[in-house]
Amino acid sequence: MTFIKNIYAWVVIARSNFASSAGSWLSLALWGFIFLCFCGGLIRTLVAGRDLKKTKPLSMPAPDRDESQHAAESLSEAIRINSVTGNKEGIGQMNDFLRTRYPGVFEHLNLMPSPKGSLLLRWRGPRDGSRLPVMFCGHLDVVPAGEGWQENPFSGRTDADGYIIGRGAIDCKNVVIGLFEAVDSLIKEGYTPSRDIYLSFGHDEETGGAEGAAKMAESFERRGVRFEAIIDEGGYITTDHFGRTGFPAALIGLGEKGCSYFKITAEAAAGHSSVPPRHTAVGVLAEAICRIEAAPPKARLLDAIDEHIRLSMPAMRFFQRFAVSNLPFSEPLMFRIFRNNPSVNALFRTTLACTQVKGSDTPNVLPGRAECIVSARILQGDTPESIKKYIESLTDDLSCTVESVLEIPASDIADTKSEAYKTIATVIGDVFPGVACIPGIQPITTDSRHYGKLCDNIFKFMPFVLGSELYRGMHGAGERIHKDSLAVGVDLYKRLIKAF
Ligand SMILES: [Zn+2]
Repeated sequence: MTFIKNIYAWVVIARSNFASSAGSWLSLALWGFIFLCFCGGLIRTLVAGRDLKKTKPLSMPAPDRDESQHAAESLSEAIRINSVTGNKEGIGQMNDFLRTRYPGVFEHLNLMPSPKGSLLLRWRGPRDGSRLPVMFCGHLDVVPAGEGWQENPFSGRTDADGYIIGRGAIDCKNVVIGLFEAVDSLIKEGYTPSRDIYLSFGHDEETGGAEGAAKMAESFERRGVRFEAIIDEGGYITTDHFGRTGFPAALIGLGEKGCSYFKITAEAAAGHSSVPPRHTAVGVLAEAICRIEAAPPKARLLDAIDEHIRLSMPAMRFFQRFAVSNLPFSEPLMFRIFRNNPSVNALFRTTLACTQVKGSDTPNVLPGRAECIVSARILQGDTPESIKKYIESLTDDLSCTVESVLEIPASDIADTKSEAYKTIATVIGDVFPGVACIPGIQPITTDSRHYGKLCDNIFKFMPFVLGSELYRGMHGAGERIHKDSLAVGVDLYKRLIKAF
């Protein structure tokens, strides 16, 4: 019996010894594997950062003095016209100004029928119709001046450093003037385009373009006109991509997010604020807003955004680059790292922001209803309906309703492998050798979304050089553009027209 017990004890001890030694080997192998993966990730991160050393700050080409001066004076004059959306007189003055400033353009190009205030011009190419036309877009209206200006926002003044200041300087009278100067100059050179070139300028872009671009799009659709490419405002040539000074990049929008507004209404008993119920309408609404902020729609990586962030890697900080260079394994880490960077976070998900809140008009009266507007910027893959359902799912146990006020779906995404994209990239490369062309999707809407049915290749790109700080001046106080940047824009528009 003792012998059997001894054998059993020996077996138990042997098995436990084997398990412990195998266990430590397994654990060592696992840690070794993790260490190797980490080293691999580190090497990938360092390699991805090497391109930063090769990158040079943007060197601006020397502009033609006379052309540059003419363009600067034209933009100053255009800014002096107060063409805030809805100001019919100002919009009319913009039309008149362009006619008198560029008589050659109006002589050579066909003025096409367009809604009152908008402007549509066609520059005829060969009549064999073998090549689809290309359209360049902009808009004649501007947003109101708003607050915070240190000077008259419609002065069009040029300061001592060469900046032309005023509302519309980069949104988007620069585009309008840039295109007119380019076409005017090409006409004077005796150039004729190799296909039809359209110039289209809406008069109500800042309020959605329903009366301008939307109507022009309907007219094209009725006539069965299709376009090879459409180039509208949007991306630009930045001098400091990802905030990295000295890392220039041409940001080319391939599409735009949709825009929807949802009204959330909470209801509760109205009455005197001295005897409030446990939950007031404002309290319920606040709970709904907190839930929406705490649970943003799920992040995901679209192909176009994947390309954007991979090309942006050299400009990123180390940890950002670590997360991006090790995709797809590091995707959750990447979403987490960029969660506090609003402009990058917006590339990964539909964003929701509460913008307008309404409660009681009187301090001591409980409102029977409280309302807010949630502004949603809808990423491709989501729809206004799916986002409405999502908000409802977050608030379904609260006494509130969700109503859709505006529904603009996300646009299609243009192809970076298309000839049109390659043409734009080539032109940029000719003027700025070595500067990366980085595609992306923009969070704001433009007039060209109305042309979605007419063209597969709509690009949001204005060929002006702007630092990110200048770009943030759009719709804000102190909007400005440097006259050399305007001159570069004219040159690039000329080259683009020739290249197409
Ligand atoms: Zn604009």
